[in-house]
Parts: sequence; C-alpha cells; structure tokens
Amino acid sequence: MRELFSEQTIETRVKQLAAEINADFAGKAPILIGVLNGSFIFMADLVREISIECEVDFIKISSYEGTSSQGTVHLLKDISADITGRDIIIVEDIVDSGLTMNFLMSRLEGAGPTTISVATLLFKKEVARLTFELDYVGFTISKDYVVGYGLDFDQKMRNLKGIYRLDGQKKSEEKG
Ligand code: 5GP
Repeated sequence: MRELFSEQTIETRVKQLAAEINADFAGKAPILIGVLNGSFIFMADLVREISIECEVDFIKISSYEGTSSQGTVHLLKDISADITGRDIIIVEDIVDSGLTMNFLMSRLEGAGPTTISVATLLFKKEVARLTFELDYVGFTISKDYVVGYGLDFDQKMRNLKGIYRLDGQKKSEEKG
C-alpha cells in the first residue's frame, strides 16, 4: 500500500471544496445527496464545513461490470427527499468509469431539480466517460485502485484516515 493523500491533505482539500460550495450556493439551500457506501466519510467532513443552509440525503446503488467497460447499475436505496425544484449536489467518493455518475445524473434529472451539481473527492479522469462536467473535484488520480477514507477493498479499509493505492490488486466487483 502506498499513501496517496494524507489525512491532513484531504482535510485541507475538503475545506476548499466546501468554501467553493458555500460561495456558489450562497442564499440557496441545496440538498447534498451522498452515494453510499463510499461517500459517507467525505459527506460527513464536507457537510460540517458547509455554512449555508443545506439538507442531506443518501442514495445507494450497485454496479456490476461485465467483461468490457459496459455494465449495469442497480438502485438499492432511493433518496427520500423531494428534489423537484431544488438545487442538488451529488456527493461521490470517486468517479472511475463514469457509469455510476451517468446513471445517477439521468435518474435524478428525471425528478426535475432546478440544478444538479457533482462533488467527487477523487476523479479517474483518464478512464472516465462522462456526458457532463464535474463541478467540484478533490483530486484527479490515475486509474489505480485506491482505498481508505470511505473507499473499500472487499468492504474493508474504509476506516483508514488517508487514501492509499493498492498495488497488485484487482478491482472488486462490488461497488460503493
Ligand atoms: P464507476 O461507475 O465510475 O466506474 O465507479 C464508481 C464506483 O466504483 C465508486 O462509487 C466506487 O464505489 C467504486 N470504485 C471505483 N474505483 C474505485 C477505487 O479505486 N477504489 C474503490 N475502493 N472503489 C472504487
């Protein structure tokens, strides 16, 4: 395991992202929608740095990849909030292929929010295939598998305070 981002580095960057959100949504009351399970720590840290009025909700999905880059996304837990006419911010731990985020975007768009923004802590820019721009990106990283700060390997290692690259490991099939 090699450390990519220390606890201190993450804390500094999360505060910067929150400051941007505070400025961009001043006078509004966005709903932050966290994507379970991976985003729970990022969400907890981010939301405590947000000083404007806001709400928090969660959605849970699971993706299963086939032999190619295509895959299917399943909704395991929907949001509870009514997002029609609201400003929403999707809070994700990592955008890899973009499959999950594309699915979420089209699903949430269907409910008629006023605006949809995306905040992701990590972005594998070189492999992601997105049909839209990400609004708030913590760190752009290479395609290597990473763990810690909410991100798992076979549901473990979410509790690590930093973010680490796993060497010589295959990507887990279970997402989130
Ligand atoms: P995507 O649909 O963009 O390929 O993948 C998004 C989901 O896959 C993330 O929410 C995350 O759960 C999982 N994922 C993608 N890359 C990584 C990684 O490097 N480490 C971990 N732990 N999960 C990842």
